[in-house]
Amino acid sequence: MCWSVLAWRSLAVFTGALLTAEGFYYLLRYVRKCREQKPKVLFFPAPLTCVRPLLWSPRRCDCRLPHGESALSSLARLLLGAGRSLDVCVFSISSFDLASVVLAVYSRGVRVRVVTDSDYMALAGSQVGKFRKAGIEVRHDQDTSYMHHKFALIDGSILVTGSLNWSAQGIFRNKENVIIIKDIDVVKAFIEEFEQLWNEYDPTKYSFSPQK
Ligand SMILES: [Zn+2]
Repeated sequence: MCWSVLAWRSLAVFTGALLTAEGFYYLLRYVRKCREQKPKVLFFPAPLTCVRPLLWSPRRCDCRLPHGESALSSLARLLLGAGRSLDVCVFSISSFDLASVVLAVYSRGVRVRVVTDSDYMALAGSQVGKFRKAGIEVRHDQDTSYMHHKFALIDGSILVTGSLNWSAQGIFRNKENVIIIKDIDVVKAFIEEFEQLWNEYDPTKYSFSPQK
C-alpha cells in the first residue's frame, strides 16, 4: 500500500473517531440536560432537622437537633442557590427556618420580592414583618379572598410549587408536596403570574391605607 493511501485512510479513521467522540459528547450533554430538566418532588412532613449550618459559615451548629438531609434542607438549599433573584408568592409565611433562608439570600444582594396574603401576614408568628424590616419588598392582596398561591421562582428559571405553606405546621406536621420544575414554558407562566400580581398589588393602587 502506498503511503498516500495509508495517510488518507488514517485521516479518515481519525476524523471518524473525532466525529464519534463529538457526537458522544453532545449526546451526554443532551442526556444531562434532560435529567436536569426532569421535575423533582419533595414530600412533607420533614423530620425535625436544623438547617442553620446551611445559612452561615463555618457550616456547623452545636444544637441538639439532627443536621442531616431532609425535605426541608433540600428546599432550603435550593432557595439558597438563588444568585440573581428570588420571587416568593406564598400564602402563609411563618416558618422561622424558611424566613431565615430568604433573609440570608437577601443579605447576599439578591433581589428578593415577596407576594403574600394580607390576612395571614397579620397573624402572630408571621415572618413578613422581618422581611419588611430587612428591606425586602413585600406586596399583598387587599381583598377578602385569599392570595392562596404557594410558589417561588429562583433566578427566573426554577419553579418551586406545590401545596406547602411556609409554616412549621406545613413543614413538620402536614402531608404536603413541593415540585421543582425547570420547564421553560411552565416557569414562564408562573413568572407572568408573579409579575401580574406584583403589578396588581402595587401599593400605589391600594384603595386603603393601613392603620398606623
Ligand atoms: Zn443546629
